[in-house]
Order: sequence, then C-alpha cells, then structure tokens
Amino acid sequence: QVDIHNIRKSFGNTEVLQGVSLSVPPGGVTVIVGPSGSGKSTLLRTINHLEKVDGGFITIDGELVGYQARGNKLHELRGKDILKQRTNVGMVFQNFNLFPHLTALENVAEAPIVAQKRSKAEARKRGLELLDRVGLKDRADAYPRQLSGGQQQRVAIARALALEPKILLFDEPTSALDPELVNEVLDVIRELATSGTTLIVVTHEMGFARDVADTVVFIDQGRIIESGAPQDIFSNPREERTRSFFSKVI
Ligand code: ATP
Ligand code: MG
Repeated sequence: QVDIHNIRKSFGNTEVLQGVSLSVPPGGVTVIVGPSGSGKSTLLRTINHLEKVDGGFITIDGELVGYQARGNKLHELRGKDILKQRTNVGMVFQNFNLFPHLTALENVAEAPIVAQKRSKAEARKRGLELLDRVGLKDRADAYPRQLSGGQQQRVAIARALALEPKILLFDEPTSALDPELVNEVLDVIRELATSGTTLIVVTHEMGFARDVADTVVFIDQGRIIESGAPQDIFSNPREERTRSFFSKVI
C-alpha cells in the first residue's frame, strides 16, 4: 500500500507538484496519464526518494519514505538506510538503463549480490528464473547492445523484480521502442499485473490503460484532476481538461 499525502515539489520557482494525494492499494495497477511536463516522472521519483518532497509525505505499508523519526524530529535516511528502503520499490525507465558492460543475466543478478549479499550461484539461479519469466532465458549471456529495445526493456523488468520489491514503478516503459516491439513489453507488464504485483505505470498507451488498469489517474500541471476506473474516466470524464486530453490521445 502506497499512500501519498499532499506532496509538493518545486524546481526553482516552479511548483511542479502542487499538493498531490493518491492511495495505491496492494496488488493493483494504477496508470498515470497526463500531458508532457505535468509532473508524472517527478511524482514517480518521489516514491523512492529519488526526488525529495518540499511538503507532504509518502508512506509504503505505513513506513515513511526517505525519513526516520527519532524523538520528535525527522531525519533524512542516508547511505545504507535509504538503499535498503529503496529495495521496496523497483523502477523501470524509458531508456532501459542497463549496465552496458554486463550480460543480461549479470544485470539481473547484480543487485541481489551487491545489496542483499546473495551468493553468486543463488543470484544466477534466481536471475535465470526471472529471465525465463520475461521470455529471455536463452539470451542470458547476451550484452545489452546485442539485444533489441524490447528485449533490453524485458531484461530491465527482470532486474527490477530481482530484489522482490513491494511495488514496481514504470516510467513510459514503451515510449523509446519501435512500434512492433511495444506489445512484447506490455505483455510482460500484463503478466505481472495478473500475478498480483503492485504496479504504478506512467504511459501513453491508452489501450493498455483501458485493459489493465484498476485506476487511471489524470494529472495536469502538477495536480490530480481526476481519477477513476478506466471505463468511467475514458467514457465519462467529469472534468473538461480530462475530456480534452483524451480527445487528443485516443
Ligand atoms: P513527460 O511526459 O514529458 O515525461 P512529465 O509529466 O514526466 O513529462 P516531469 O518530468 O515530472 O514531467 O517534469 C515536470 C516539470 O518539472 C517540467 O516542467 C520539467 O521541466 C520540470 N523538471 C523536472 N525535473 C527537473 C529538474 N531536475 N530540474 C528542473 N526542472 C525539472
Ligand atoms: Mg516523464
């Protein structure tokens, strides 16, 4: 369960998140849509404290993100403590961000070995299972440059799963892909959705949102304008801004 309470975030004089509140129940799929620059990536990044909020707070299963209470003061988590907390949250980016000098399997096994002190043998075994889950067991020894964009993104998903996060965040996971490769990645995300992983997905793929989302959240200029079940928000948006956005993207 992720609870976002009235968070605010500014860059310089621009407030890019202007009091955002959102609850994401466990096991569901929340899709975030909105125009470019509306604050979607910033919102995702606050969930694992890659961006520090200026106001409000976020909890994951009741645990405050990025801070620890000592006495009646809040101290920002640092070093090992923040890394440990971030293992709760897996993140998949638009541009895959794989380690270019590591094979697919090494990319997936790296974090369990380094962050969780797993044995190499154990991390490799688990890594192969995860590559199998994304349909890439036979490419375990390939380097990222030897893989298609869709395959690289599937390795990135397997890597994000390796630390068994409570939540997976996707920031436009298919927008850097050639059109014919989009579905192989969306299919993997669909499979994760049915297996009960909690997913928060920023995407422009409205067909995917319609099929897979439990909740669609429309954000514009740093505010949630409305949210709801896909059939409601797509066919019957309450707000004119939502209607106008969907009329351009669907
Ligand atoms: P897109 O759909 O294009 O990815 P987005 O909804 O993800 O857009 P954000 O990346 O969250 O939007 O950016 C929101 C606003 O904050 C934009 O105006 C952006 O220029 C600004 N911004 C984001 N990161 C920074 C930063 N590190 N420094 C300064 N401004 C930033
Ligand atoms: Mg973005």
